[in-house]
Amino acid sequence: IQHFPYDAPLVLGLAKSGTAACELLIENGFDVKANDLKAKVDDPSIVKLQRLGVEVVTGGHPLSLLDNVDVIIKNPGINYENTLIQEAIKRDIPILTEIELIHYLTNNPVIGITGSNGKTTTTTLVHQMLIESNKATQVAGNIGKVASETASKLKTDETLVVELSSFQLMGIQQFQPKISVFLNLFQAHLDYHHTFENYKNAKANIFKNQQENDYLVYNADDPVVSDLVAYSNAAKIPFSTQVNLPNGAWCDDKNIYFKKDPIVAREDIALVGNHNLENILAASSAALLAGATFDGVRHVLTTFTGVKHRLQYVRTFQERLFYNDSKATNILATSKALSAFDRPVILLAGGLDRGNDFDDLIPYLQDVKAMVVFGETANKLHLTGKTAGVASILHVETMKQAVEEAYRMSNENDVILLSPACASWDQYRTFEERGDMFTEAVHTLK
Ligand code: ADP
Repeated sequence: IQHFPYDAPLVLGLAKSGTAACELLIENGFDVKANDLKAKVDDPSIVKLQRLGVEVVTGGHPLSLLDNVDVIIKNPGINYENTLIQEAIKRDIPILTEIELIHYLTNNPVIGITGSNGKTTTTTLVHQMLIESNKATQVAGNIGKVASETASKLKTDETLVVELSSFQLMGIQQFQPKISVFLNLFQAHLDYHHTFENYKNAKANIFKNQQENDYLVYNADDPVVSDLVAYSNAAKIPFSTQVNLPNGAWCDDKNIYFKKDPIVAREDIALVGNHNLENILAASSAALLAGATFDGVRHVLTTFTGVKHRLQYVRTFQERLFYNDSKATNILATSKALSAFDRPVILLAGGLDRGNDFDDLIPYLQDVKAMVVFGETANKLHLTGKTAGVASILHVETMKQAVEEAYRMSNENDVILLSPACASWDQYRTFEERGDMFTEAVHTLK
């Protein structure tokens, strides 16, 4: 960690990223304290940190921890309302996330990707496109591996692709990606950011340090994003699914293009959905700017069927197409999924009840021929389906039943889609578990 302008960091939150940050900082000679409310003192990772010389405090957030601390490295999940954070703000102690450390750990090219939706898909696409172009690359951030730890281990010429959430981006000062990608901006996470303005500004941090020789790939179809990027110093590369953009990425009925060159025929693209078309245009731009080849990009676009649980193609069985979109935990995501198909859909939906209604889903249910509903919101979704005129609606308990009933109601060429529009925690530990149960039930259909 070179030239980091602090001496005595406090790492707040010892999940994966916090633990990695502690290790990096202590190895580089900093005087490190760490604090976690829930961590167990005898947890092997905590014991290891203590052995390395980190002063670890668990079980509370005593304000005295802040004495002699000159910076906080905060876990992105910890709210700014936290008493320790509030006190740090009073004392003018900067609050960073481990993403900021990337700036002090590597000079390799970094591609940062953010947006309200589509981050993981786009990040995965960019990473794969670089691999298929024989360019050395690592992927990290919100998507899996800890970003700073990965940055610290990069080999010469390896490009780092990082997925960045607004929570992570709130805590940067100098972080400056060579290429940033700004996908879209919807009302989201307002429980954390309070106002849309705050959320927008957090996301805009992704390009705040970029200069003329950096690139900013952005969604020209999103008016909020377009307005926001006007302030950037970076070379701007717009993408659009609506208009021809000779200076960016775009498409017509036949092909998708980067500047004047066709990349691939639309009918050969494996991913479905207009939202994925946006992700594809964004990813292709970023990858090509980072040195990917047209062949490499094309190969990925014709073979990649989706990130797990994100409108992921699972299987065709008896001419029915099964898609797993378990990650769709809100109405917006489910509406995107429903818009992706131009054939009859049987929708599997339901889950945790957050108290909202599902009225906004009604326009998208017009071409849904049947619904199978489950979980806490089953009754609400049943009503919504009825209002929208969905012909058959069934209430089931388990995912296995849901898949079997959907199959029983289906005809050849139908899509059977799990896109729950709700979080999974009423019946499953995670949306991944829910998606895995769906996939398993699909594969065991007879
Ligand atoms: P994130 O990592 O930002 O949560 P994902 O790539 O995991 O995004 O996609 C999550 C869900 O968001 C998808 O299942 C899809 O419904 C929706 N989505 C993906 N890309 C977009 C996009 N470009 N615009 C709008 N919605 C999208």
